[in-house]
Amino acid sequence: MMQVKGIRSISPYVPGEQPNFSDMIKINTNENAYPPSPAVLDTLKHFDGKSLSRYSSISNQKLKEALAKKYHLQSNQFVIGNGSDEILAFCMLAFFNSKEPILFPDITYGFYKVWADLFHIPYQEVPLKQDFRINFEDYNRFNGGILIPNPNAPTGIYEESPTIETLLKNNSDSVVIIDEAYIDFGGVSVIPLIEKYPNLVVVHTFSKSRSLAGLRIGYAISNPNLIQVLESIKSSFNPYSVDTLSEELSVSAVESQTYYLEINQKIQHTRELFAHKLNQLGFVVLPSKTNFVLTTHPKADMQALFEFLNEQHVFVRFFPTNKRLEQFFRISIGTDQEMLRVTQILEQFLAK
Ligand code: PMP
Repeated sequence: MMQVKGIRSISPYVPGEQPNFSDMIKINTNENAYPPSPAVLDTLKHFDGKSLSRYSSISNQKLKEALAKKYHLQSNQFVIGNGSDEILAFCMLAFFNSKEPILFPDITYGFYKVWADLFHIPYQEVPLKQDFRINFEDYNRFNGGILIPNPNAPTGIYEESPTIETLLKNNSDSVVIIDEAYIDFGGVSVIPLIEKYPNLVVVHTFSKSRSLAGLRIGYAISNPNLIQVLESIKSSFNPYSVDTLSEELSVSAVESQTYYLEINQKIQHTRELFAHKLNQLGFVVLPSKTNFVLTTHPKADMQALFEFLNEQHVFVRFFPTNKRLEQFFRISIGTDQEMLRVTQILEQFLAK
């Protein structure tokens, strides 16, 4: 380490790998199996590149209005960011400033802990129940805020709205953030509860159900008071974090409801077929309302299976360093054809 003052010692966060082979089946980072909507691609084709000499919009009013129309809310109930990762980081900076620890599940999106550490926010991880469900009773304690993904990741398990409503009631003096990154794959959003609970913030992304992971757009929905605080954080940190092209393409994505409904229903259908097939092969599969499944095979050597899949350029997510998940794979749902090929490879391995 250099002999100068003030340098922070920090290990890098390692997101899922991004391998790049022409013949690969990439089902390791929960991207959408299908392309963005034809309208998005058309907007891209006709985008006026000359406009890029100007800074992007600070308010992102165009996208907010498109979202407000979709959800029947007001445009001042949205804040837009560079992926929901950025929005979640803004939420932590904006709302988690008390001395009490914030609470999030002990098996959940890995970034929560990373940001809490980065921003020096005290936290407690709340263990999941034996069946991997969230233990909501354990959240009824002194806390500086709550962060829960619904459905949870990487379990894929979805909790019904009344459970979230009880959580909101029992924690009315702290902000509760519900990260709904995967809500469009079979769950029901708690957005309607925003009217009733001034402590609720819902976070969404265009990376999963909108098939735009490479574009980096996410947003928070809440009451105008909390949104204003988020806007202040955003403008103090990076007011132009949403680029002009991304905003334009996202508006087209919001307006392509029918297309997205269709592909996301298709993904749910493929998920159910794939989960059924996994069960037939002896895998244990957690109930999922996402575009992935968490699964393990009690009799298989999962490390060897992981290597076998990699050799054939099939990339799934493996968690060898997590005690409770070390035998599990998280497998994103690809196209029918891809999942058929994956099934064949799993069969081959189990027959050895
Ligand atoms: N929340 C959860 C639960 C996620 O799994 C992810 C993506 N892996 C995100 C948020 C962030 O998504 P993005 O930054 O692409 O919007």
